[in-house]
Amino acid sequence: MPNQTYHISCALLIPVYNEEDAIPLFIERLDHLFSQCPDVALSMIFIDDGSTDKTLDALRNVQQSDTRIIVVELSRNFGKEAALTAGLAVCGEKYDVAVPIDVDLQDPPELIPEMIKKWREGFDIVLAQRVSRESDSFLKRFTAKYFYSIINHISSVKIPPNVGDYRLLDREAIRAINSLPESCRFMKGLFSYIGFKTATLPYVRPARSAGQSKFGFWKLWNFALDGITSFSTMPLRVWSYVGVLISIFSLLISIFFLLRTLLFGVDVPGYASLIVATTFLGGIQLLGIGVLGEYIGRIFLESKKRPVYFIRRVISSNTEKKRD
Ligand code: UDP
Ligand code: MG
Repeated sequence: MPNQTYHISCALLIPVYNEEDAIPLFIERLDHLFSQCPDVALSMIFIDDGSTDKTLDALRNVQQSDTRIIVVELSRNFGKEAALTAGLAVCGEKYDVAVPIDVDLQDPPELIPEMIKKWREGFDIVLAQRVSRESDSFLKRFTAKYFYSIINHISSVKIPPNVGDYRLLDREAIRAINSLPESCRFMKGLFSYIGFKTATLPYVRPARSAGQSKFGFWKLWNFALDGITSFSTMPLRVWSYVGVLISIFSLLISIFFLLRTLLFGVDVPGYASLIVATTFLGGIQLLGIGVLGEYIGRIFLESKKRPVYFIRRVISSNTEKKRD
């Protein structure tokens, strides 16, 4: 590394899960980029999220010759949100700014100097917003579009559309995130929740550099449910409105039948309408119970106060090496 006086310390937080092929490409690109930014002291905090391939070996390998690299090894796969939470905790308040970034180069690192420029202008958070999702699958584009529209209608915390975890956070923002105690951590929501002075930079999202996306349909679906239930009580409250409407409706119907019976006598029993009414109400009640269950499940999880992750060890080049 060149011998310079550094003006800003920047930590990249890079969650990795089975990314042995992507790591060398990532480091090569960053080396090239930051060799042109002598005013930035870079650290790379890799969070190995319980990889089962040679990711950890690859990281240890590059770490031998690169003192900027810190490796945080989680004890198993906890998911990207937990890995980022771990990264932010390890980062703490040691750096001027931190940037969560994917290792697959879908978050173009070339944006980081621009983010830092915005930070120097006085912004606390600089978001990277995708202007095109052409490299994403149809499923991802479709779900993303409706997800943002739904959550921003029903939640008081506004989540900017097409913004991932890729953003610059300054020390205070990191402190705020780290002070949130909840264990169901929907990071995009938490990042928005804390507020702060925010700027936005547009970018075009490229395709993955190597390997495959770790987010399939079910993971995305559960992720969206997590987001909505973490930041909105609307799905819980909407059932009381539906209940009121249905009660008014059934009251009107019973008045109608009462008057008809008084005026015209007993009619043939309506088997079909009874069946329709009971199944309809049964369905509505089950849906309502399902939504209640969603929240009760969360209360259950939160009440256990489980740590979001366990770190097995934090490895930096000046850490005592005990077992290897
Ligand atoms: N990732 C992780 N834990 C997981 C899944 C993913 O740390 O359980 C990491 C992954 O290695 C990558 C980042 O999160 O650096 C984004 O994952 P991916 O590229 O698969 O997501 P996509 O870009 O398809 O949304
Ligand atoms: Mg990706």
